Amino acid sequence: MGDAIEACEVCGYVWDAVTATDAAVRARASTEAFAALLEAHPEASLVRPSADRWSALEYGCHTRDVLYNLRDRIVLGIVEDNPRPHALHGTPRVDGGLYADDTPASLATDLRAAGELFARTLDRMPRDAFDRPIHYSWPREATRTLRWVASQAVHECEHHLDDARENVSGDQSSAARLI
Ligand SMILES: [Zn+2]
Repeated sequence: MGDAIEACEVCGYVWDAVTATDAAVRARASTEAFAALLEAHPEASLVRPSADRWSALEYGCHTRDVLYNLRDRIVLGIVEDNPRPHALHGTPRVDGGLYADDTPASLATDLRAAGELFARTLDRMPRDAFDRPIHYSWPREATRTLRWVASQAVHECEHHLDDARENVSGDQSSAARLI
């Protein structure tokens, strides 16, 4: 990849453009916005607009789980050198019915808690820990930094918040966005 700038092919998010301080602010803001969307659109949040999209509730459950999962990866990376964490297995969580009892109201509470906990962890991390290495397998196999993982958590929040907004607005003009 050399010095090429890496950006999400769907939403344009640039991982390296987000600092650790930005990440905490944006994790709080995007999870609050996601929670507010679920509360404002409890019926539309349950609908899969097409076969290649999750419902807003499912995007939100995935985002919540990502926040807890990446928080634990960051803790692992603080203690271990270049760890290789297990995958999240996001799609099996949806397909296996693990989110069947989540509701827009319960998820709104969860998202606010997950975003706040993630941000609080970033706020209290030793500053030099953000440069520590960790393996990450998406969007390509690579050794990243904990700063990149913090940025990736924000990317998941903002990318899937966009998905949820498109779902409830009836605009699904983007390509399939299951990732
Ligand atoms: Zn994206």
